[in-house]
Amino acid sequence: MNKNCRFCQIIENRNNEEIIFENDNFIVITDKYRKTSVGSICLVIPKKHVKNILELPQNLNAELLEIIKLTSKAMQRAYNVKGIRIWTAVNKEAGQSIFYTHIHILACKSIFDRLIASFPGVYDLFVLKKMSSEKNFKLAEKIRKEIIVK
Ligand SMILES: [Zn+2]
Repeated sequence: MNKNCRFCQIIENRNNEEIIFENDNFIVITDKYRKTSVGSICLVIPKKHVKNILELPQNLNAELLEIIKLTSKAMQRAYNVKGIRIWTAVNKEAGQSIFYTHIHILACKSIFDRLIASFPGVYDLFVLKKMSSEKNFKLAEKIRKEIIVK
């Protein structure tokens, strides 16, 4: 656990209300710092500190993809949208700002939602408004109900 690392802190000080899904290796939470027009963005995070997705141990690859898929499908149902964007950045040149693997999953209804995924930094400058924890927890609950683990 690194005290200066935001995601190490999230894993350490877990808040059950924002957790969508969890198993031995991964946790999925809603992000109160970013949202699309339909609701919270979900973040898939390994429980161990791994710098970026390219450094994720090979034995976790299939599991990660499975969790991305079940979260995405849950978001489609919870928000009643077809559009989903999935992205992650590797190193600062690509826009990685927190050096801990995290995959963003966004439900998209419009071009504006797509812009949040394509240019999060630019979007943040103009539009970023942190969601209240209460609102974020309500949205998390809505997605959590739609998680179907096979
Ligand atoms: Zn860390």
